[in-house]
Amino acid sequence: MISEDHPRYHSLRLREMIVDAWQRGILADSGMIAHGRGEAFDYLLGEETTKPAERAIRAAAAALLLARKPVLSVNGNTAALVPGEMVKLARELKGKIEINLFHRTPRRVKLIEEVLRDKGADEVLGVDKLTHIDGIMSPRATASPDGIYSADVVLVPLEDGDRTEILRKSGKTVITVDLNPLSRTSRMASISITDNIVRAVPAITASVRELRGSEREELERILEEFDNRENLRETIKLLDIRRYNPEL
Ligand code: ATP
Repeated sequence: MISEDHPRYHSLRLREMIVDAWQRGILADSGMIAHGRGEAFDYLLGEETTKPAERAIRAAAAALLLARKPVLSVNGNTAALVPGEMVKLARELKGKIEINLFHRTPRRVKLIEEVLRDKGADEVLGVDKLTHIDGIMSPRATASPDGIYSADVVLVPLEDGDRTEILRKSGKTVITVDLNPLSRTSRMASISITDNIVRAVPAITASVRELRGSEREELERILEEFDNRENLRETIKLLDIRRYNPEL
């Protein structure tokens, strides 16, 4: 049990959730390593939602509201940290949720499905038959026919570069949440939110609520004005290794 007075309370709390998910079999070993990398970037970014991240969150909300068929992808880390927030966002958008795992086993799929259902999800895709996107025979190209396969806008937090590339090439708008602004995923996605998923997902939901009444033209304008490359460049400028130790 971590004391709330501890200066690293929030970060240690997330670690605890990650370890707990790993012990329950929700998270693969490599999911813990991925979390560690994310944690390091979060530290350098001041563990707060930056201005470029706020812009990306707003663009993501606009894209999701404009979508004909928005689908939210859930992997082990997402299920460990924000299962309830993903269900809430899906409900807000009347969108679907699909389990998508790099290290896919029937047991892990089942456990994640249970976590999502426990948080109120009525429908969870990606649990049975999967189709290969554009006939690409890679295991990273599989998707549910009712979900990501036929979606126009997908939110794929903590994705890998290969899959992001496949999703982009198939013509989808790809929104990612990835604390590493240098990753292939961040560079390849249509909208990259460089923020911790625990802050980003509730912020997207809040932005969807705020923009819901907007005219279509206004949402399209938000999207047009968003430049992912430029936004990543601005984020990289914010990586400040002296932030916590200005005397160094
Ligand atoms: P790529 O193929 O895109 O270059 P990668 O293979 O280097 O990515 P992965 O291990 O596939 O990286 O993806 C994990 C990514 O998720 C890392 O870039 C890490 O920074 C990020 N990440 C980990 N935890 C979080 C979190 N809580 N919130 C947001 N991003 C996170």
